[in-house]
This record gives sequence, structure tokens and C-alpha cells, in this order.
Amino acid sequence: MASTHSAPAIDKEALRRKYAAERDKRLRADGSAQYKRLETEFSDLASDPYTPVTPREPLTDHVTFAFIGGGFAGLITGARLKEAGIDDYRIIEKGGDFGGTWYWNRYPGAQCDTASMIYMPLLEETGHMPSEKYAHAPEIRDHCSRIGEHYGLYENALFHTRVTDLSWDAERKCWLIRTDRGDAFTANYVGMGTGPLHVAKLPGLPGIEKFGGKSFHTSRWDYAYTGGTPEGAAMSGLADKRVAIIGTGATAVQCVPHLARDAKELFVFQRTPSSVDERNNVPIDPDWFSKVNEPGWQKKWQENFVANLGVGFPAEDLVDDGWTDLGKRIRAQVIDMPADQRTPANIMAAFEDADNGKMEEIRERAQAIVDDPATGEQLKAWYRQLCKRPCFHDEYLQAFNHPTTHLIHTDGKGVECITEKGVVAGGSEYEVDCIIYASGFEVGTDFVERSGYDVTGRDGVKLSEYWKNGMRSFHGLHIHGFPNMFFVQQNQAAAFIANYPHNLVDHALTVAAVVSYALEDGYTEVEPTAEAQQKWIDFLLTGPGARIGSTECTPGYYNNEGQGYGEQERFALGHPAGAQGYFTHIDAWRKSGSFDGLEFR
Ligand code: NDP
Repeated sequence: MASTHSAPAIDKEALRRKYAAERDKRLRADGSAQYKRLETEFSDLASDPYTPVTPREPLTDHVTFAFIGGGFAGLITGARLKEAGIDDYRIIEKGGDFGGTWYWNRYPGAQCDTASMIYMPLLEETGHMPSEKYAHAPEIRDHCSRIGEHYGLYENALFHTRVTDLSWDAERKCWLIRTDRGDAFTANYVGMGTGPLHVAKLPGLPGIEKFGGKSFHTSRWDYAYTGGTPEGAAMSGLADKRVAIIGTGATAVQCVPHLARDAKELFVFQRTPSSVDERNNVPIDPDWFSKVNEPGWQKKWQENFVANLGVGFPAEDLVDDGWTDLGKRIRAQVIDMPADQRTPANIMAAFEDADNGKMEEIRERAQAIVDDPATGEQLKAWYRQLCKRPCFHDEYLQAFNHPTTHLIHTDGKGVECITEKGVVAGGSEYEVDCIIYASGFEVGTDFVERSGYDVTGRDGVKLSEYWKNGMRSFHGLHIHGFPNMFFVQQNQAAAFIANYPHNLVDHALTVAAVVSYALEDGYTEVEPTAEAQQKWIDFLLTGPGARIGSTECTPGYYNNEGQGYGEQERFALGHPAGAQGYFTHIDAWRKSGSFDGLEFR
């Protein structure tokens, strides 16, 4: 994607006012409380439609390493531990197989918006060539199985199992893990990698339980009802159905084209339009791949992607897509600035200009693609691009040219209620046979509430108490007072970056290095010192923070529905020098071999 833009002739003040007015329409006093949790209040809808539960006896054995979560975090950590010779590894996963988000999200059209060359982990190790620049979900799910098989991670895995309690046994120096399947086993080490988007939510609409037709959340797609397949085969079950989809986020953008194609009639209920840029997906050419495929290529690609999102001036852009385009546009403006004018304020102004130019193009795209000018206007996103998850698709906007697809634009108000027969918006009732909730996942609630278990560390300290005023960790991975535990995620590390698995790949290297060191030298406990942890947090606090959605943004999960995250937000941080700064720091720390800040006992 070219970045030939200089500052566009846009009335910045007028645009800021328009963005603020659009945001204000959407602000609600109930914030995140407007949603209901699928897993508790609608547990019948939350059950696993993909794999039957296999009965088994509870376990009371012992493993060296237990990992909670069978998505990328658990798989990559397992791979690195197995490579390090630690064979006794057990994944505990609530789904019926590996994959995490890719296990649950099987809606038609599901695809990764980040290039597969950098997003799909362990490609070199497993010898897999992605079939497309942006792989579809079935291929990613298969890749999770491939990793599981390649590294022997299935052998010890517990599926359809939820951890209910995790407690440190100081005498035996191990963790006791209890689950909803009656297990009570121990592990010398534990890892937690439950992901940021694993608890599905529904809009808390009056009457939602009264609907007489079929309804489901996009992460529990009922192919038995719709027909079709996750690979995109026609959903013959919808040929005579009127279907409503509520929500127009990244998930809806991907499945609406399939619903438009197959449903008798489709009603898309929109509260806030997504920004939908072009996708330009292409198959990966094996000849091209064979030239790229030299030792270390994936690490090089991942690092190049991070560099292109950062503030440096990398010589090449290997991925070259909509994510790196914005970074390039900002740099194009900064490069024209005399060195003495590159102040933070001027760089922020350049960022705003680049963003305005980009968003204007995306709005023009909606108008150009959609035949009906009024519908095209309603599909325009009025906010800065990173206020909400940017979307990329080459068939979503086109779906609104389908004669049986109707955009129900609620102008920021959303759906009002559900009746026995359908959906009410703008005072009108739309009678439908099926309602699909593309309403997203819980974000920003505290970790313990979302994960479904508390952790009791050394001296009986509960993680829920310890993190009451915000997360505290060393390098985002180790927590003082919680020995032999690793938190494999993004905060207080590289933080939110467009290639989430890169965080996990890096953390897994650290876990394997630390555990190998402890085992080789006969240590039974490892934990960060209180001083090292505090120093790390103080250092992170010197930076600008990592939360991408400010309260100036239109409401969404990036900014806790416009209300911000309060005191806790201060700690949702990344390295002051960005993701690249973190990876550079941690690489040197790991290579030093002394693991400064960790205490081995
Ligand atoms: P989102 O939270 O992004 O979207 C939820 C949608 O539901 C929003 O459009 C929201 O509107 C709408 N909504 C909620 N309540 C109502 C209501 N009462 N009336 C009308 N609309 C309503 O969830 P998604 O599942 O789309 O995406 C979640 C995340 O998953 C993404 O942000 C992304 O990080 C990830 N994802 C990643 C993909 C990938 O490529 N790797 C693909 C798909 C998803 P409003 O915006 O107004 O709140």
C-alpha cells in the first residue's frame, strides 16, 4: 500500500467537532454494564456446539508444568518447553481442542486481519506455508492442531476443563490446580494464557430471553441450523430465513458477506460503523515462499513488522499492509520536518494529519462502493482510526448492494429491545427467524473475574487482592508473591500491538529459559523480587502508556465504553519505547543469563 500522502486539506477543527458529536451520541451512563455475560446468564447459548464432551475420571497426579489455556499462548510455551527437554507439560483448556479464540470463532468468513507470515506462530518449526496472505480460521485452527501434534502437546492435555482454583503449596513448593471436572493435581510451575477476548458478551437488551426464534453468538455458530461450513459453503438452512445480525465490529464485517449471500433477507443492525479499508488478500506463491524460507525468517518478519509500526525509519516493509500504512504515513510527514521541529507535539500533529487523511479515504471508499448514497453515508466511520479496531474487507461494503440486505442504521442508539418475533430499533419492529449476536467479548473487567478462578500465592495472598488497584508484574510475565508462575500475555511487556502472537512467542522463550535454568541448577522456586518489580513498573510509568483508546474516542471496548479504566488504566502499560523497545530489552536480559530481578531459591 503506497504512502504518498502529505497533510490533506481537511478542516481539522471541524473534523474534531464532528468526531466529538458522534462520540457523544453513543456515550451511555451504564458503560460496560450494558452487556450480559453469555457464559453465566445464557449458559445454554454458551455450550460447545463443536465437540461433544468426553467423560473422564478426575486426575490427582503431578506434572512439571501446567498451563491454563490451549490457545496460542499455551501452545507456544509448550513448544519452547518441549524443545528445552521439559516433557511433562499439561494444557488445561475449556474448549474441546486447541485453538483458543480460533477454536470458538468458526463463523463463516472468519479470518485473521494480521498477515499469516507473522501471525501464525512456529511456521518454520512446523514446516507450514500459509496458503494466503491473510489466512482463514480453518487453516489457523488446523495449525493449532499441527503445533499440538508436532510437539506432543495432546498427550497430556485436558479439554473441556475449566480451572476453578489455583493455590501455591509452600511446603511442597508446587501449585495445586482444581478444575470443574473434579481434578486436584499439582505442578511445579504454572502458566496462564487465557487471552484477552475469551468471554463472549451479549447486549443486555430487554426481552432478549423472550425471542421465539433461533439465536446464537458468533463465537458459537450453529451450523446445524444455518447449514454450510466454516470454510464458507452455502448456508442452505438460511435460504428461507429472515436473519438479523446485531453489531458491526470486526466479526460482523467478516460474516455479513456470507449472510448476505445465503439468507432470504438480512438485517444488519448498526450502532457504530466500522472503518473498513481494503483487504487485498492473495494466495501465497510456493516459489516466492521457498525463497523467503531461510532459517530465522519468521523472527525477521515479526521484528520488521514491529519496526514498521514504531517511530524508527526501517529500510523495508515486508508485510506492507493496512497496519504498516498508517506508520508509514506518519513517518512520511515527520521526515519532512526539520530535526529541531520534531517535538512530541509536532509528531502528534503529524499523527493526526496522517490519521485524518487515512480516515477520509476510508469514508470515501464506503461512498464509492455502496450504490445507495444514503446507505454509503451511514457506513462512514467518524472517529480516529485506532479508536476502534480497524477492519479490512473487500466484500463487506459490497454486501449492502445486495437487494435483500438492509442496513438498519440506529445512529448511535443501538437496538432498543428484542421481542418474541424479532428486533426493535428506531421504534420499528423487524420480524426475523434468527438473531445472530456479533456483540463481542468482555474486555477490561478484572483478570480474576474474567478467568473464572482466583490465584492464591505465597502467604495466602489472593491475586484479586494483589491486583485490586491494577496489575503489578515484572516484565509482564512474573508476579512477586506468586512463585513459579508465568503470565503469558501482553500488558507490562510489548503491550497491544497489531501482531498479538509476537508477545507470546517472546514470553515463551523467557519461560523456557527461566525454567531450564532453575531445573539445571536444582532450584525449586523462582520469583521476582519486590524491588525489581517496582523498578520495572516505575520505569513503565515514565512512558506514554499503551492504552490505545482514549476517552475522547467513540465508546467501545478499547476505552471501556467511553468511561476509561480509571486507576487500573495506569498499569495497562507497555515499554516506554514501544514494542520494539521491550523486545530489545528482554532479548538482552535473557541473553545475559543472570536473570537480574528474579530470585532463585
Ligand atoms: P466488537 O466488540 O468489536 O463489536 C461488537 C459490536 O456489537 C459493535 O459493533 C457494537 O456497537 C455492537 N453492539 C453492541 N451492543 C449493541 C446494541 N445494543 N445495538 C447494536 N449494536 C450493538 O466485537 P467483535 O466480535 O466484532 O470483535 C471483537 C474483537 O475480536 C475485535 O476487535 C478484534 O480484536 C477481534 N477480532 C479479530 C479478528 C482478526 O482478524 N484476528 C477478526 C474478528 C475479530 P458499538 O461499536 O456501537 O459498540
